[in-house]
Amino acid sequence: MHRHGAFLTIDLAAIQRNYRTLRQMHQGQHCGAVVKADAYGLGLRRVGRALAAAGARYFFVAQLNEAITLRETLSPNHGDVRIYDFAGVLPGAEEDYLAYDIRPVLNSFADIERWARLGAKTRRRLSAALHLDSGMNRLGLPADELDRLVEDLSHIETLSIDFVMSHLACADQSDHHQNEEQLSSFERARARLPDLPASFANSAGVLLGPAYHFHLARPGIGLYGGAPVTDMPNPLVPVVQLEGRILQVREIDAHQSVGYGAAFRASGPIRVATVALGYADGYLRFLSNQGVGYIDGMPVPIVGRVSMDLLTFDVTRVPAARTRPGMLIELLGASQGIDDIAEHAGTIAHEILTSLGQRYHRSYIGD
Ligand SMILES: *Cc1c(COP(=O)(O)O)cnc(C)c1O
Repeated sequence: MHRHGAFLTIDLAAIQRNYRTLRQMHQGQHCGAVVKADAYGLGLRRVGRALAAAGARYFFVAQLNEAITLRETLSPNHGDVRIYDFAGVLPGAEEDYLAYDIRPVLNSFADIERWARLGAKTRRRLSAALHLDSGMNRLGLPADELDRLVEDLSHIETLSIDFVMSHLACADQSDHHQNEEQLSSFERARARLPDLPASFANSAGVLLGPAYHFHLARPGIGLYGGAPVTDMPNPLVPVVQLEGRILQVREIDAHQSVGYGAAFRASGPIRVATVALGYADGYLRFLSNQGVGYIDGMPVPIVGRVSMDLLTFDVTRVPAARTRPGMLIELLGASQGIDDIAEHAGTIAHEILTSLGQRYHRSYIGD
């Protein structure tokens, strides 16, 4: 085995447990799974198989190539899985949706027409989801396109619309006024269309309660252990552990500096451990002089700048026997989760996960 400098451990059983927790909390019929961006950086194939084994049958991705990868991964054992592509109908790739049995989320009138044209051409009643914008102003039919559709429903009559959906912009804050506003906007829009199942809740929406649930939930970050709502307790368990290997340890004196830009200067004698992991591995450079690692539950602060391949820690407080070259410092795990490090770095757990690099020695447990 190659001796990589950093070790990323992904607990598939924890992902399955989080899926079951969200499915239990969700009062609607189906709990789907969002596996876009390589399953939030954790590996689309492994995570997709684990979620299908846990019973997930509605999968969501953000690009056609992700959908194809997932279909190829799941098709032998889970032919009943439905895969939806949030991005709409990619012009010119229509045949791929049919070949791999991928259902687009129709985001616009142009998407609807493109999909209906393909249905007419192939003489098939094609399936899709219909996305209505309820106030996020990003994707989905805006109000004027919804009016146009309601005036002439023949545009979707030749299609099989599995469900209508919308997406919450502020659900990570449970008391944000826009949550209820989007909910009423979505309900008003639904009432103007034929009676169809609905999908509204991301992970946060599941936590917000039954009013937000409808038929099908679309959780992402919660599956991977992130706290969906910042002001509510997180009912989900951690999924990832990240450890870096110590390459070298040295004693430095007061006034000596550490790393690029001499951005840290010791105020007294300290012991510095250098670890083989850096911003090229997704450890954000913003955490220079700010992040912490843990050794046996004891915090060790990062000193100096985060380099491309290296981090430097003040390990003065830890017994020397525990900081020899080859030993590990924990960066994500029991002592510090993805939300803790996200808060330190001024970002969200989604970005911490999707930034994780490709250089780690990755291992999957709980399979
Ligand atoms: C990413 C995404 C989700 C999942 O959101 P989480 O906050 O990760 O649960 C659900 N729906 C849509 C449309 C998305 O883009």
